[in-house]
Amino acid sequence: MRRGYSEAQIRGIGMTSQRTRDRLVDRLREKGINDMRVLDAMRTVPRHLFVDEAIATRAYEDTALPIGHGQTISQPYVVARMTEALLYSPDVEQVLEIGSGSGYQAAVLSRLVRRVVSVERISALAEQARARLRALHCRNVEIVHADGEWGWTQGAPYDAIMVTAAPDHVPKQLLSQLGDGGTLVIPVGGRGDTQRLLRIVRDGDEITQDELDLVSFVPFLQGCV
Ligand code: SAH
Repeated sequence: MRRGYSEAQIRGIGMTSQRTRDRLVDRLREKGINDMRVLDAMRTVPRHLFVDEAIATRAYEDTALPIGHGQTISQPYVVARMTEALLYSPDVEQVLEIGSGSGYQAAVLSRLVRRVVSVERISALAEQARARLRALHCRNVEIVHADGEWGWTQGAPYDAIMVTAAPDHVPKQLLSQLGDGGTLVIPVGGRGDTQRLLRIVRDGDEITQDELDLVSFVPFLQGCV
C-alpha cells in the first residue's frame, strides 16, 4: 500500500467530496447523534479511503460495506453511536478497540482520545489497517494482530474499551482490563441477526449495564488467522 495519500485523495471528489460527507453528518444528527466532537471527527475522517476503490462512491451512505475476508466496515450511525457512548466517562484517554477491520473506527477514535490500541485477529486486515493509518499520519493508533478475547494487557488499564464484533457473552478479560470508572461498549448476542448494544460501566467492583440499541455485527471469533 501507498506511503501517504495525496491531499486530493483525502479531499475526495463528487460522491466522496466534503459536501457528501457533510450530508452524512446531517443524517447522523437527524438520527439523534448530538455530540459535536463525534460529528466533527466523522466529518473529517475520509471513510472512502477505508474501503475498496470500487465501492468508494458508497462510502458516505449510512450503511455497512464489505472489506473482504467476510468482514464489514460498520454503518456510520453505529460508529457514531458507539463512539458517543464510549465518551460517556470524563477524561477518556487510553482506549482499546477489539476488531480493527478496516481501521476506520480506530481513526475516528484517534481524533478524540490520546491513544488507541486496536486488536484484529485476521493478519491481512491488521496489516492493511496499519498501512492505511500510517498513510493518513494517524500516529496515536497501534494495531495489534491477536485474539481480542484476551484483550491486550500491555496497555491496560483502559479508560474505555469498544468491541466491534459480537460475542455471545462479555469476555472476562476485557472487564478486568477496564480501569475504575471505565466504560465498555459491546454488542452481545453472537451469530443471530441482531445483538444488544450494551454500555457497561465499572465502579470499583460494581458493574452497571444499560442497553443502547439493537445492532447487527459480524461474529466475534476465536483464534488468529
Ligand atoms: N471496527 C471495524 C469494523 C469491524 S468488523 C472498522 O471500523 O472497520 C469486525 C472485525 O472484528 C473483523 O475484522 C473481525 O476479523 C474482527 N474480530 C472478530 N473476532 C475477533 C477477535 N476475537 N479478536 C480480534 N478481532 C476480532
